[in-house]
Amino acid sequence: MSTLPATFRALRAQQADQSTHAEFQTLPLSALPAGDVVVAVSHSSLNYKDGLAVLGRPGVLKAHPMTPGIDLAGTVLEDRSGRWAPGAPVLLTGWGIGERQDGGYAELARVHPDWLVALPPGTTPHWAMSVGTAGFTAMLAVLALEAAGLKSGQGEVLVTGAAGGVGSTAVALLAAAGHEVVASTGRPEEAAYLHDLGAARVIGREEVSGLTRPLEKERWAGVVDTVGGATLAGAYASTRTHGSVAVCGLAGGHDLRTTVFPLILRGVNLLGVDSVTCPAERREAAWARLTRDLPAARLAPITQTRGLSEVPTLAPEILAGRVRGRTVIDVR
Ligand code: NDP
Repeated sequence: MSTLPATFRALRAQQADQSTHAEFQTLPLSALPAGDVVVAVSHSSLNYKDGLAVLGRPGVLKAHPMTPGIDLAGTVLEDRSGRWAPGAPVLLTGWGIGERQDGGYAELARVHPDWLVALPPGTTPHWAMSVGTAGFTAMLAVLALEAAGLKSGQGEVLVTGAAGGVGSTAVALLAAAGHEVVASTGRPEEAAYLHDLGAARVIGREEVSGLTRPLEKERWAGVVDTVGGATLAGAYASTRTHGSVAVCGLAGGHDLRTTVFPLILRGVNLLGVDSVTCPAERREAAWARLTRDLPAARLAPITQTRGLSEVPTLAPEILAGRVRGRTVIDVR
């Protein structure tokens, strides 16, 4: 016997007259997309991409109407595939939810069983969403740097866009792994926050984006870049011989004007990070490490919790780079 509610509340992005706007709607169960698992969503989160989707910026939402929200956590209500027991606590990041298929800004979601990750024992949906895609991406970046040979004691590791969601969690994760973290930010007023997260030094954006020569003085043993553009070009040109750059984001631009010299004269590794399509096995490993290195107490100073009704007003804030750290969205 089904215990599913007849209707649910969702934030829907609608297209009219070639512009997109988001509004709250109460929808029938039949509005859910195809899929085997119905999840009662208790929490979602706010990522840069969600800001783009809610404000109707081109490129994120592949169809309309659509429920944005690239992350969700909650409880399984039913699973027709039999893989997940009703009541199982689960989380989901990426796989195209909130882009190609309805996402986490709704009380109910219907998804593919393979996309779900069991909530790690001892954690809560709120914790999972304070990590969210941003923290998960930071973890993938750190794992990529380590797989390419980065070890603590090798020297400074740079994080760009450090006061943002991916940046803040990358600073905390790198500090937890014993690295000497240098945080680059355009918000000098966030220096104390970044030191508290474990940054050894805080530098201005221009100290990285101003590095414009093909080969700059060697400085970074590793880099987690969330900014792209001139910042990524500067970080890459100043990475030490056999160091690595994990490329995560484009908050400052999607272009990359540079040369091959760091690759062929210093053996620098440019590593791509894509959290959306990350295979299940790597997801499990990343969430296990996040459980260890970013416990709730460590994430609390990074995290604010806001209601689903506040998402439309938060969206322009994250795109303007005014949101610090992570934002959990309470969907209940
Ligand atoms: P946030 O908005 O929380 O953080 C982005 C940070 O970048 C800001 O806080 C700011 O940091 C900096 N920034 C913003 N605008 C500019 C600018 N014009 N020039 C230089 N720096 C700027 O976003 P998220 O942390 O959620 O995401 C960061 C990036 O990573 C985004 O581009 C996002 O799309 C991408 N991303 C990629 C993923 C992947 O799978 N590859 C997954 C998740 C995110 P500060 O104030 O410290 O300077």
